Amino acid sequence: MVDACGWEIIKNDSFCKDFAPHRHRLGSVFGYSSTCVPSILSGRWPCEHRNWCYFVYDPKNSPFRSLRPLRWLPRAVTSRRIFRRYLTKMVKSHLNFRGYFDLYNIPFQYISLYDFTEKKSPLKAGGMNKGPNIFDFLEIREIPYFVSDPAKTEEGNLANLREQIEAEAIDFAFMYWAGLDGLLHRVGNQSPEVPARLRIYEEWMRAVLALANDHYSEVHLYVFSDHGMANCDELLDLKGMIDTLPVEMEKDYAVVYDSTMARFWFFNDHARSEITNCLGKVPQGRIIPDSELEEMNAFFPDGYFGELIFLVKEGVLIVPSHMGERPIRAMHGYHPTDKHSYASLMTNQSALRANVSSIPDIFRLMTAEAQAAQAENRPDRPAAIESSSTLTPAI
Ligand SMILES: [Zn+2]
Repeated sequence: MVDACGWEIIKNDSFCKDFAPHRHRLGSVFGYSSTCVPSILSGRWPCEHRNWCYFVYDPKNSPFRSLRPLRWLPRAVTSRRIFRRYLTKMVKSHLNFRGYFDLYNIPFQYISLYDFTEKKSPLKAGGMNKGPNIFDFLEIREIPYFVSDPAKTEEGNLANLREQIEAEAIDFAFMYWAGLDGLLHRVGNQSPEVPARLRIYEEWMRAVLALANDHYSEVHLYVFSDHGMANCDELLDLKGMIDTLPVEMEKDYAVVYDSTMARFWFFNDHARSEITNCLGKVPQGRIIPDSELEEMNAFFPDGYFGELIFLVKEGVLIVPSHMGERPIRAMHGYHPTDKHSYASLMTNQSALRANVSSIPDIFRLMTAEAQAAQAENRPDRPAAIESSSTLTPAI
C-alpha cells in the first residue's frame, strides 16, 4: 500500500506498468487515512468499524487531563511543531497508545475535552475499534504473514520483508509505505519530486518481486492506495468566523477543526442555530446531510464523531485547524466523489479474485489470496484444507 498514491497521481504515469499492468480506479472512504486504512484492513466501512476521525468531544473519557496545565504556556511555544512532536511522543508512551498518535494542533486550553479514538493499532490483530481485521483473519487460520512496522523506515521494512521471502516463511505480506503522502502534503501533486519518488518505489517493488519469484512459484502483487491528494489553493479561516458568533466554545458547543472538515457538538439550541446559520453562508463548503453521510457509510446515529459535519470543497484548506497552524500544499479528506479522492489498484493479475470497486473491497481480495496461497503452499495443514473450500469467508 502506497499512501496517497491516488488515481490522478498515476493515471498519466507509467507507475508499476511493466510488472503490474492491470489498473483499477477505486472509490475511497469519506475521511482521512485514520479511516481509509482500517476500511482496507477490515473490509468494512466507518459506521461499521468506528475507526473514523482521530479526535472526538468526550470529556468524561479524555486521557489528556494531565496536559491542562500546559494551557498557560504561550502559543508561540505550544503551536510549534517541534514542541508538539516531543510532547506527542511523551503522551503516546505515557498513555500506552498502540496506533498512530499525534497531538497535532489541539489547543491545550481545550485538550481535556477530547478523546483520541485510535488507541490500538489497526495494523495488528485485535487492532480495530470494532470487529476483526485481516490480521485476525490470518492468525485464526494460521496463515504466516508479514506486516510492516510503522515504527521502522520504509527501507527497514523492505529489508525485513526480503528476509521473510528469502526464508520462504510467509504466504502473505502487507507492506505499508507512508512516505509519498508526506511528500505530497509538502510539495503538491504537480511537483517533479512526486514521479521521482514513484520511480524509487518501483525499483524497490521490482527487486522484491524478482526475489519472490526466485522463492515462490507464483507471486500475486497488488499495489494500491487509500486515497489521492488534491492541491490546496484556497485557505479558509473557519475558526475565525465561528469565534465571532455570540456562542462560547466548551459552554455552548464543542468543535474539532480537521483540515477539510469541522465537526460540531451542541449543548443548546441557540448554539446549534447560530453555528448552522453561519456555516450555511460559507461558500467554500457545506453541511453534509445525515442522509448523505449514511450513503457514504459514515453516519453515526449516536453523534460520537460530531452532531454536524461541515465539509469544504476540494482544494480548500481549513487553516488554522486542530490539525495544523500553518498551510500545507495539498490535502485529502474531501468528498469521496471529488476528482482527487479516488484511490488506485495496480496488479499483475488480469482477473481479480473478488469484485473490487472501492477500497474496503481490497480486504476480500486479500483474504481470498491469503487462503489460496496457504492452500498451495501448505496443503497438509488442517486449516488450509478446511478453509480452502470457500474463497471469501466472513469472520
Ligand atoms: Zn495524508
